[in-house]
Amino acid sequence: MKSSDHPIQIISRKRDGHELTDHQIRSMITGFVDGSIPEYQMTALAMAIYFQGMSLKETASLTVAMLESGDRLQWPAETKITSKHSTGGVGDKVSLILVPLLAACGLKTPKLSGRGLGITGGTLDKLESIPGLQTSLSSSQITDAIESVGCCICSATDDIAPADKKLYALRDATGTVPSIPLITSSILSKKLAEQPDCLLLDVKCGKGAFMKTTEHATELAHTLLQTGNRLGVPTECVISDMSQPLGRAVGNSVEIHEAIDALQGKGDTRLIELVLHMATHLISKQHPERFKTEIQAHIQHAIQSGEAFTKFEEMIRFQGGDLAALSTPEKKVKLCAPRDGYIKAIDPEKIGLAIIEMGGGRKTKEQTVDHAVGCTFLKQVGDKVSHDEEWVEVAYPESEAQKAKAIEYISQSITITSEISTPPPVITQTLS
Ligand code: URA
Repeated sequence: MKSSDHPIQIISRKRDGHELTDHQIRSMITGFVDGSIPEYQMTALAMAIYFQGMSLKETASLTVAMLESGDRLQWPAETKITSKHSTGGVGDKVSLILVPLLAACGLKTPKLSGRGLGITGGTLDKLESIPGLQTSLSSSQITDAIESVGCCICSATDDIAPADKKLYALRDATGTVPSIPLITSSILSKKLAEQPDCLLLDVKCGKGAFMKTTEHATELAHTLLQTGNRLGVPTECVISDMSQPLGRAVGNSVEIHEAIDALQGKGDTRLIELVLHMATHLISKQHPERFKTEIQAHIQHAIQSGEAFTKFEEMIRFQGGDLAALSTPEKKVKLCAPRDGYIKAIDPEKIGLAIIEMGGGRKTKEQTVDHAVGCTFLKQVGDKVSHDEEWVEVAYPESEAQKAKAIEYISQSITITSEISTPPPVITQTLS
């Protein structure tokens, strides 16, 4: 190959109208996976994509190449599969509630989830607070779970999108994670491997998410939406607010406790609003013949009757977890508001950093997670507080140094003003 015909050269000249072909993208990805394309070349390509972007056609080709680097989940012909994905945010426990809720309403929902990335927690880490629970299921165990329970939440098997696993590690090490075509192909290659009949993506926007601005979140949402639809999966997106932690708890076991409360009808208002919106959307996609009001009544019934929580218990049992053994943290301290007023903000980034500092998230990939640490908010954005009133409960670790640093972050996270303040809506846009 002449050096000027090399994919890296071509993408670098993209602004002159040059595009990578399907074949060029596929050769790079297959070569990277089988080792014939060295890491330094793939790094150069990731950097070129990071700086130059990709057209939708190139993004779709990259997604397909990554998808086809591995296997897809297989379902009986008549089975309709529902899929959701979140780009991740501080306190985001939507999957833990939505997945069993959808299954309780009759939708088959296999959820391939990830671990914590940066300040955002990971669904798998949260689930592993439940003693005995296995997040690593084989393809046949996933199929069994869908047949017998209707849902599961597990990691992608080693055979699903191996190119993404390898490329993600390289992006992480080379600072090329925040690139819209790379994020899109990474997310969709795994989602499309679930072979869903419909897909709803929750793009988080704000300080507690990867996309900090509406402009970036909207661009990512449009790219995900168009790429998913282009590849034949009816895809829709919500953009949801992450300017404050989602719900009342941030951490691993504390978020499991909060998800259980929500499944039992005692959910935080904003969290439940988002869950119900997504559930209604997905059920109406799978059942376009049903009226929205009827679907909403069905969802409410599933929660009020206990069916949604029973489905959660079944899913946990199927995955080997012992919910009765889920512990409640013992080492706890409550922090007081520094002044009278209204809570204007709780900075989710500071809260995410506090959780990582206490060992509830990872500073390095190898680190094990402390499931017990976390924050539970007794007051939220918009609430009135008095000087010395308790606003957050912190479940802290053994180490005094970690505890002190985390409490510093948490204390810095709250802004109190004299003016009444109202939280922004949790759903800012729905794109279809
Ligand atoms: N989540 C993913 O799966 N991939 C990314 O690139 C970013 C978030």
